[in-house]
Amino acid sequence: MSEAETPEQFDLVVIGAGPAGEKGAAQAAYFGKRVAIVECGDLGGAVVNTGTLPSKTLRETALYLSGLRARNLYGVEYSFGRPIAAEDLFYREKLIQRSQLELVESNIARHKIALFSGRGQLTGPHDVRVRARDGRETSLRAEYILVATGSRPAHPASVPFDGTCVYDSDTILHLTSIPASLIVVGGGVIGSEYATLFGAMGVRVTLVDAGARLLPFLDSELCDVLTRQMQDCGVDVRCSVQTSAIAVDGGGSGVTATLGDGSALHANALLYAIGRHGNTDGLGLEDAGIVPDARGRIGIDEHFRTTVPSVLAAGDVIGFPALASTSMEQARVAVCQAFGFAYKRQVSSLIPYGLYTIPEVSMVGESEDSLRAAGRPYLVGRAMFRGNARAQIAGDTTGLLKLLFDPDTRVLLGVHIIGERACELIHIGQMCMQFGGTIDAFIDNVFNFPTIADAYKYAAYDGLQALARERPTPG
Ligand SMILES: Cc1cc2nc3c(=O)[nH]c(=O)nc-3n(C[C@H](O)[C@H](O)[C@H](O)COP(=O)(O)OP(=O)(O)OC[C@H]3O[C@@H](n4cnc5c(N)ncnc54)[C@H](O)[C@@H]3O)c2cc1C
Repeated sequence: MSEAETPEQFDLVVIGAGPAGEKGAAQAAYFGKRVAIVECGDLGGAVVNTGTLPSKTLRETALYLSGLRARNLYGVEYSFGRPIAAEDLFYREKLIQRSQLELVESNIARHKIALFSGRGQLTGPHDVRVRARDGRETSLRAEYILVATGSRPAHPASVPFDGTCVYDSDTILHLTSIPASLIVVGGGVIGSEYATLFGAMGVRVTLVDAGARLLPFLDSELCDVLTRQMQDCGVDVRCSVQTSAIAVDGGGSGVTATLGDGSALHANALLYAIGRHGNTDGLGLEDAGIVPDARGRIGIDEHFRTTVPSVLAAGDVIGFPALASTSMEQARVAVCQAFGFAYKRQVSSLIPYGLYTIPEVSMVGESEDSLRAAGRPYLVGRAMFRGNARAQIAGDTTGLLKLLFDPDTRVLLGVHIIGERACELIHIGQMCMQFGGTIDAFIDNVFNFPTIADAYKYAAYDGLQALARERPTPG
């Protein structure tokens, strides 16, 4: 009997070892289940290898090498001493990638999860075939299968991705030199993050987006602040502009983007950052009766089950919100629900969004735009970082922290922050919201001083003043 005909038995087989796969597998193994992970590439998925951590490490490196953080603090211009080379930019990214990979490896080993290197394919509701690079096949059988195969950058046929002039968010990590000029097509999270990162390094960046403004999900006031700061940093932001054609110049000397109005932009390089596609090709889903949508995403129910109850799916492959943070949590919940672990029943509906642009932006809960659209009354309390001692010391005086609350109950409805450490600071507001707190929580709370977190208290004071203006006490 061949190896392929004798399936190895597990309780759970996970396809994909990105954050969703790793955390889902570890969750099941932690509760004593026999678990296998199948991975066709490098462990860690987009978080470790191509997305989250590489881009965040590059951001820190760009801030450091460009001296942007040091500017205005000591009245001196910091200079790296020589032009910044691609090796300088990618040096720490490689170190972080290695150390994060070790963490994933040790998590898998600690939980005694069997690791199969190769491409996984469903061959039945409980069966997975693994095809290794050398062609050898192994069959696995499990009570449940978790599909956590992630996503990849969308590649429209009209865009000539060549990895030397025209990049996607994966191949931009293979730059061999820092371009003098860069066109970024797409003003979503990835496009905006990379535009500010390269802008900080002195690259002439043009960011083109077809929408009326960048990042439509963002509170419009913060979006305006971010756009202004991008422009101050030298990024040419062009909204409501279609890109009708992209062509590599003769001899690969650069790239030309033709815009909807017929004008053309030229640059040394172009980053195309629109859209992602679920990794479902060749997974055997259709044979199992699971039909992905046109963008390769798998539909699931509230228990993360596909149309085949023994096949679960989590992470980018199920689409929105396609974040590392939510992918991990979805997989944990999927596994807990499937095996009936009374531990984690659902993914919190209160999801924070973090943008590692320069400056950082983060939000949780409702925005002014969403509250207006819902016709729900609200008031705003603001604290500007320029009035905050720690922000002044850190040289970040352009930030803003904004609280949205219910005028009747004072319950906190949303928090929006732009500025230094926004992605960390947001969790204070998030926890308050998690427990149904009011803005009085910040007024009563004693904050370390000096801290940027103290801005919560001043935003709450400002909110109370807004309340007093709207509802003056009689007499
Ligand atoms: C540039 C960029 C920046 C980002 N920044 C952030 C951020 O700041 N914060 C945040 O929360 N999120 C961020 N994200 C999103 C985050 O990276 C993803 O949401 C997350 O990686 C999704 O995890 P996943 O496990 O679903 O999929 P992935 O990380 O894509 O992992 C899927 C894994 O499955 C493997 N695989 C695919 N098909 C098969 C198969 N047939 N057999 C075996 N293995 C297979 C792949 O090789 C891969 O390792 C960013 C993404 C990008 C691209």
